[in-house]
Amino acid sequence: MLLLIRLKTLLKTFVSFINNLPRKHFFALILLFVFLLVISFIPSQELSKKTIKRQLVLPAAVVTPDDYAMAEPISAVKEEYGKVFPDFSGNREVQIEIKAGDTLSGIFQKEGLSAALLQELLEVDKQYLRLGNLLPEQQVKLLINPENKLLALKVVIDLANTLTFTLKDGEYVSLLETKKGEWRNSLFQGSITGSFYINAKQSGLSAGQIQQISGALHEKFDFNRQLRPGDTFHALVSKQYIDGQYSFDSEVLAVLIKTRRQNYTAFLHEDGRYYAQDGLGLNKAYRRSPLNRKYRISSRFNPRRLHPVTKKIRPHNGTDFATPTGTKVYSVGDGLVVRAGYHPAAGNYIVIKHGRKYTTRFLHLSKIYVRKGQRIKMGHLIGKTGNTGRSTGPHLHYEFHVYNRPVNAMKVSLPLSKEVPKKQKKVFDKRRDLFLKEMGQESI
Ligand SMILES: [Zn+2]
Repeated sequence: MLLLIRLKTLLKTFVSFINNLPRKHFFALILLFVFLLVISFIPSQELSKKTIKRQLVLPAAVVTPDDYAMAEPISAVKEEYGKVFPDFSGNREVQIEIKAGDTLSGIFQKEGLSAALLQELLEVDKQYLRLGNLLPEQQVKLLINPENKLLALKVVIDLANTLTFTLKDGEYVSLLETKKGEWRNSLFQGSITGSFYINAKQSGLSAGQIQQISGALHEKFDFNRQLRPGDTFHALVSKQYIDGQYSFDSEVLAVLIKTRRQNYTAFLHEDGRYYAQDGLGLNKAYRRSPLNRKYRISSRFNPRRLHPVTKKIRPHNGTDFATPTGTKVYSVGDGLVVRAGYHPAAGNYIVIKHGRKYTTRFLHLSKIYVRKGQRIKMGHLIGKTGNTGRSTGPHLHYEFHVYNRPVNAMKVSLPLSKEVPKKQKKVFDKRRDLFLKEMGQESI
């Protein structure tokens, strides 16, 4: 109550004050009030401008040389950010499609990159042995900074494989990206009218697949002498597709030859070997060593070996045997020569695939007796030891890979027995029955 009375008296005093004001002063007061009101509604432009500026600063940090290409392929980084923000880093990207006669040293020379740098990269490439000889149609991409330092090198080797070298903390780190793709089974079959080779080709099998079939059964069956007109053959082949395209990588899973007298079968087990329907081995087992005699091991397999100078981890992916130059080297199992040639760091080398699971590699050889694409048997003479490439003395560097990962060749469990081991028999039987079903031959 008291407050209200006070307010009333205050209002009265104010009104009498306004009334007593001169007319000019009264209008001036009203104007001032309206002006203050208008000002308070105008948005502050200065402040919002600053906020936008801060947001624009962000993209520049995206293009730092260190992070480049490790997380994303070069093209993806460029495509994603290139459209929206200009590249202020000054890095240049060179893209080359390899033509016959092109060499990496030629490309490096043209781009002003040193031969020493190439040697450094080749040393790192010992892990994958892919830089030695580039093939026509392969794609090479270089990322070079304004000081002409190579930040990244990328080689698209084939549909499945891309190899990247990236500068990290002053050294190059290599990464081989392999697409698994999709493996699909195809059935090929036919009857004999002439030679097995011609009839198999007519059914759609490739020369390599026919070789694999005859290799699987060669100790049990003579394709030249035991086949008669009217006999039939059936082959289940697994083929790799990458982004819907056949990669030309394939594997014969099962073979059935029906002659008037009897059936011959071969089933690929998970160990990369072929076994007959009853689980008996069709080919000789693997051997532990590629050499015929025992030689001193001069350097063991060691994934955590330290570099003597830099103290950084430099894995030794193989076993070194101290052999005199010219010692004979034999294949440890049946297989396909996937690569053979010269690499500046590895010297003369051979890579052999034994089914999808195992791969063996032989480095620093003096002689190579096999060629790419050749199918060989266990015990086949493949070359002679030497001291080629970057090597500190005559020796054989021998590597064993399981699903493309190097393991200790002296310790890995190898399929050494003549038949499917008891522990794996159930798995084998299941696979065999599945293959027979896919071939429409459940009742043989
Ligand atoms: Zn070695």
